[in-house]
Amino acid sequence: MPSYLADAYDVIVVGAGPAGSVAARRAAEQGFSTLMIEKRQEIGAPVRCAEAVGAEVTREYLDQDERWINAHIDFYDIVNSKGDFVRVPPTEHTWVVDRKVFDLELAHRARRSGAQVLTSTTAVGLLREETQVTGVKIRALDGSRDVKARLVIAADGTESQVARWAGLKTVPPMGDYYSGVQYLVGNLKGKLKPNVCEYHVGMDMAPGGYVWVFPKGEDVANVGLVMTADKSAEISPREYLDRFVRAKYGSPGIMSVVVGGIPATGALKRMVTDGLMTVGDAAHQADPLTAGGINLGMFGADMAMQVGAKAIRDGDVSAGRLQEYEHMWQDRFGKQHAALLQVRKMLSSMNQETLIGLIETASTLPIAEMSPAQVLVTLLKSHPRLLIEARTLITTGLILK
Ligand SMILES: Cc1cc2nc3c(=O)[nH]c(=O)nc-3n(C[C@H](O)[C@H](O)[C@H](O)COP(=O)(O)OP(=O)(O)OC[C@H]3O[C@@H](n4cnc5c(N)ncnc54)[C@H](O)[C@@H]3O)c2cc1C
Repeated sequence: MPSYLADAYDVIVVGAGPAGSVAARRAAEQGFSTLMIEKRQEIGAPVRCAEAVGAEVTREYLDQDERWINAHIDFYDIVNSKGDFVRVPPTEHTWVVDRKVFDLELAHRARRSGAQVLTSTTAVGLLREETQVTGVKIRALDGSRDVKARLVIAADGTESQVARWAGLKTVPPMGDYYSGVQYLVGNLKGKLKPNVCEYHVGMDMAPGGYVWVFPKGEDVANVGLVMTADKSAEISPREYLDRFVRAKYGSPGIMSVVVGGIPATGALKRMVTDGLMTVGDAAHQADPLTAGGINLGMFGADMAMQVGAKAIRDGDVSAGRLQEYEHMWQDRFGKQHAALLQVRKMLSSMNQETLIGLIETASTLPIAEMSPAQVLVTLLKSHPRLLIEARTLITTGLILK
């Protein structure tokens, strides 16, 4: 029986990704005894991510440090299969980070705030009293132990078992699940656009998704692809990625391969149950269009612990009390993510020629000097067929304005 584990904690966080570390830190900062467990032997590895984060949001949780910043990004290029591209500034300055260092640093922040952090330590079940989750069954290298908690945070990522054990519905439809594959590609000197993240779109490149090229240095980049699982049956994401890499770079050095899935649905409707809250990918909080989930998971964890802390203090961690977190999330991101989901669906069903034409037209516009509404009107004038799908675009333009 692992003696370094106490019998009970105020808060147990399962999973030491960005969401878990922020939840553990916020819990510890408020004086709660906190345990964060991670099943892997090393936090942050292996990396299953293209590693792009917003600088502004990230600074709320970590001091900027070049040790984990590989590239500073000033622009995004949206590219069609003919090579036309629209250059847009990101909503905030973006960094491509080294997640091995980034995730570890976030975990250190949790530890420095007083959380106990353990790796090679896995949640294998939940403790319950009737409907109430009361703790976690934990397996460590040197034995297993049932550990009580007043509140359990499921931060165990996209394949969250903890949320499922708690009875939450976590399986998205195939059309709302991104399958991803990524190469760390080297030998790219002269072939990358410095300070630019590239997004390549088109049914011929990544049906229902996109290909990204995120530079990590002058000759190295994360080159990856997501496509919705319902479109992966005939040609696999990996085959599509190989085609892209061959066509664009010939035979570069592929230094690592990662695969992973991301629910692209918007957050779960039910993110809590009695004594348990889900955060990050476990709660499907990633952006339903881009699948970016690092910053959103950190936000989610922060919100969860604002509500969770009050609930623990009041001695009421019932689902009814914890639902305030679901309302906070919906108020902040509900409409925006519903609109982004619609845009994804519209783009994935868009005729290939329309999409190519749209980017071709947009590539000629001085986008930086135009409002979203002006861009929309110009695109609609040039592509009247788009009118059928315009309602979604206009609504989204208004919501995101
Ligand atoms: C190919 C790909 C590219 C991506 N690119 C980007 C990007 O560029 N930018 C971006 O913002 N997002 C990106 N994402 C999404 C991003 O990686 C996730 O949204 C983010 O990691 C979510 O953080 P998290 O803390 O919720 O979960 P995770 O980072 O997945 O952490 C969950 C942790 O829980 C641990 N765990 C699981 N089960 C247990 C258990 N039973 N007991 C103990 N520990 C457990 C896991 O080992 C893991 O370390 C990408 C995803 C993929 C697959």
